[in-house]
Amino acid sequence: MKRAGERAGGNTEMISVEQAQERLLSHVTVLGKEEVPILDSLGQVLAEDLRSGIDVPPLDNSAMDGYALQARDTSGAQEGSPRLLRVIGTVAAGSISDKEVMPGTAIRIMTGAPIPKGADSVVRFEDTDEAARQRGGPITEIGISVKAEKKQNIRRAGEDISKGTVVLPAGTIIRPAEVGVFASLGRSTVSVIRRPVVAIVATGNELVEVGQPLPAGKIYNSNSYSVAALVRRYGGIPRVLGIALDSKESLVAAIRAGLDADMLITSGGVSVGDYDIVKDVLAKEGEIGFWTVRMKPGKPLAFGQIKGVDKTGVSRTIPHLGLPGNPVSSMVTFEMFARPAILKMMGKRNLEKPTIEAVLEDRIFNNDGRRVFTRAIIEKREGRYYARLTGPQGSGVLTSMSLANGLVIVPEDVAEVKPGDTIRVMMLDWNEDVI
Ligand code: AMP
Ligand code: MG
Repeated sequence: MKRAGERAGGNTEMISVEQAQERLLSHVTVLGKEEVPILDSLGQVLAEDLRSGIDVPPLDNSAMDGYALQARDTSGAQEGSPRLLRVIGTVAAGSISDKEVMPGTAIRIMTGAPIPKGADSVVRFEDTDEAARQRGGPITEIGISVKAEKKQNIRRAGEDISKGTVVLPAGTIIRPAEVGVFASLGRSTVSVIRRPVVAIVATGNELVEVGQPLPAGKIYNSNSYSVAALVRRYGGIPRVLGIALDSKESLVAAIRAGLDADMLITSGGVSVGDYDIVKDVLAKEGEIGFWTVRMKPGKPLAFGQIKGVDKTGVSRTIPHLGLPGNPVSSMVTFEMFARPAILKMMGKRNLEKPTIEAVLEDRIFNNDGRRVFTRAIIEKREGRYYARLTGPQGSGVLTSMSLANGLVIVPEDVAEVKPGDTIRVMMLDWNEDVI
């Protein structure tokens, strides 16, 4: 299939979004490990089987503030007819009682305190007459007004984690709960799959760096920053390498500068135009494929392997993704292609953005058989999701991305979707996904 305006010949070919994703991911490998402080591991993937060297909790301890006693001493106890026990001491969390609970005695105990020797049960304050006795001096005797069961209100040693077991297997995604588990085992560092360093190069003679005056005929380079922010959002380390001019020398220099990264992302220069020379340069530096992906916005896309000698003289091959220059296209193609690549490098397995079904409130035409991703605002009303468009959908209208929280997906074979139709939406922001 070929349409007006498309580049003919060469190695450009028309492929589906899934084919493009598959090809790209087949060239991307999981990175190596690094040992990091536990708090820095948040969002990364555990690279070791986390085995416990201790029991958590380390000792049997009380789940309540109350009295540690022998359950059989409370037989027949009830409200109005308490069993009286002699109080021989108190134990708080962090200390170990040197006394032993013998028949007819009890030890006042606080939550988390180790169960004293001889005790097999804890009765909470509310089931004793402790409140009535608080007024006097130290409590020497306590009335128990319930029949206690053995082991009640006792947290067993190893109840949470028992020594020697694998608590979290390698491959676990580290969330705040996992950081807490590391700490509960006394670990200050853990082994994780390292984050990819992603070099970012914007191409175009028209581009000016932020913070500089804007000469006539020029525009600010926004792609480097939206792309860098996306890299960071999904866990990578962006390295913004600035602007390359539309000349072979400038591009080659920029690409060489990016060779010590784990991946290179360029934007611009891959569509039909006088200065679209990225592919010539990349073909010289490595292997490159140009794909016309059946999606809108977003075609064409460049993908390949960059080979070369980095600044330190080491010969390296890294994946390269060439995003289209239009600011919306570069962000949408990033979501579809760069995001899964970064996640795969980090050892993650779920590479998909969440999708939902919503009721469309606008009309969208799809007249050239591509998969259309339309910027939309998704709202939940009375238990249903509704999607309305952000306004002008030109691929240069970056504020349409800023307004949107989702992309309505119109399949390749659907020519029109109408208000009231149920459509699928890829969520750009999903509650737990927002930084
Ligand atoms: P290109 O893919 O290089 O033909 O660029 C397509 C459109 O995107 C042109 O209007 C460019 O000026 C614009 N563009 C390319 N790169 C950037 C960038 N880094 N920041 C903002 N706009 C860009
Ligand atoms: Mg350009």
